[in-house]
Amino acid sequence: MSHPPTSQESLRRLPAVEKLMQAVRSDCALPRVVLTCMVRAEVNVMREEAQAGKEPPEFPVALARLQKKVDAFCLSRIQPVINATGVLLHTNLGRAPLSAAAAEAVRQVASQYNNLEFDLETGDRGKRGRFLEGCLAVATGAKAATVTNNCAAALVLILRALTTPERKEVIISRGQLVEIGGGFRVPEIMETSGATLREVGATNKVSVSDYRKAIGPQTAMLLRVHRSNFYMEGFIGEPGPAELAELGRLHGLPVVEDLGSGALMQTDRVAALEHEMTPQEIIAAGVDLVCFSGDKLFGGPQAGIIVGRPDLIAAIKKDPLFRALRCDKMVIAALQETVLAYLHAMQGEGQSLEAAPLPLLRMLAAPLESLTTRAERIVHSLEGLPAAVSIGRGTSCTGGGTMPRSSIPSVTVDVRPTHLTVAALGARLRLGSPPITAYVAEDALRFDLRTVFAEQDTSLTAALRSALSLS
Ligand SMILES: *Cc1c(COP(=O)(O)O)cnc(C)c1O
Repeated sequence: MSHPPTSQESLRRLPAVEKLMQAVRSDCALPRVVLTCMVRAEVNVMREEAQAGKEPPEFPVALARLQKKVDAFCLSRIQPVINATGVLLHTNLGRAPLSAAAAEAVRQVASQYNNLEFDLETGDRGKRGRFLEGCLAVATGAKAATVTNNCAAALVLILRALTTPERKEVIISRGQLVEIGGGFRVPEIMETSGATLREVGATNKVSVSDYRKAIGPQTAMLLRVHRSNFYMEGFIGEPGPAELAELGRLHGLPVVEDLGSGALMQTDRVAALEHEMTPQEIIAAGVDLVCFSGDKLFGGPQAGIIVGRPDLIAAIKKDPLFRALRCDKMVIAALQETVLAYLHAMQGEGQSLEAAPLPLLRMLAAPLESLTTRAERIVHSLEGLPAAVSIGRGTSCTGGGTMPRSSIPSVTVDVRPTHLTVAALGARLRLGSPPITAYVAEDALRFDLRTVFAEQDTSLTAALRSALSLS
């Protein structure tokens, strides 16, 4: 390689790795080897710049440049965040928080040996997830169930199991060829799985006879995909799960529903929400397989849950890819506690699924009065700070690609700082410990209390006090 002529002088003025190491701070106690690596990389960049004819920066400038990178790297470490956005299932914030019981089960199972694949009765090898699968089947009214890495994986596995080279056509409505977000497009998932698309109907209208006319010797299955993250209004219509199940039965074809959100409870009974189809309803309508996410409205860890016909579930589990996409012990432990919360709530006197002790359901159902009481307390404890603080009316939503029309009335604490911008205050809070994320509206930084746990109110207040006290 030939370099442009470099002045030895300028290379000699590069900041020394040792000197930078002594001066740089790491707020997250970065291991020394990581820090050294970052310092060397930064000095290398400066060397290349110098070789390209650029003046090396003065030491303080070089240090500031390095410090910025170290700080950003520290912040990217996964850690708890206080979510004051009002979005209950925020994909960027990890979707559903686990219940204390689920988190404790994860801790217990993960920190000790366990019977993940060990049959305690016989002492032989056991089946992974057997208890969980049994409970999921009961909770959804299905004859069988299994779990995989996430709902996207579940759909891939279903398509692979139900299609063959001779019969690989999947009939789907044009209005359901959706993008779920994060690069998950139903048509692309189908192609990856080796299935071919047979689109029917128009974007807004599709009838049972559209599906019927498309059925041929190549047809492998009928697929319905839930429009999780948008809705259509106006001149629309499509057959429901029962009608498609009936058509599938007549032609001996499996009918599958990718439900996405997977609310076991009646969403309209938990909060001022529309009714979201439950897996139980889809199974009762005669659909052969239903898949949904573990960390959306189900309120558990990231997983893909598949429920339905035992022979189809068995076929899915035989695929070598199922092995590659299987859930680990921690996910199984968390899912197990989550489904048990529903099952226990179902059988209690006068109780229902909606009473399951899960953080997601508690937040959805929190009454405005209790949110207002908390807001009053927070506003009171922020008195005397350089900001106008008031209680506002907000709207929470389920988010995370679920129930696009959801809007639940909520209560906010609105902060309008007098000596810094709303954006600057927001940035300070994001950089704090724990980080807090809120939203900006009407010139205020607004904290929606529905998604803040009551036990986080003290941390929230303390963080606001310190962020507003700094000049
Ligand atoms: C969210 C969603 C998925 C993807 O689920 P992940 O668990 O995130 O993989 C698939 N299909 C539908 C309809 C969804 O809403």
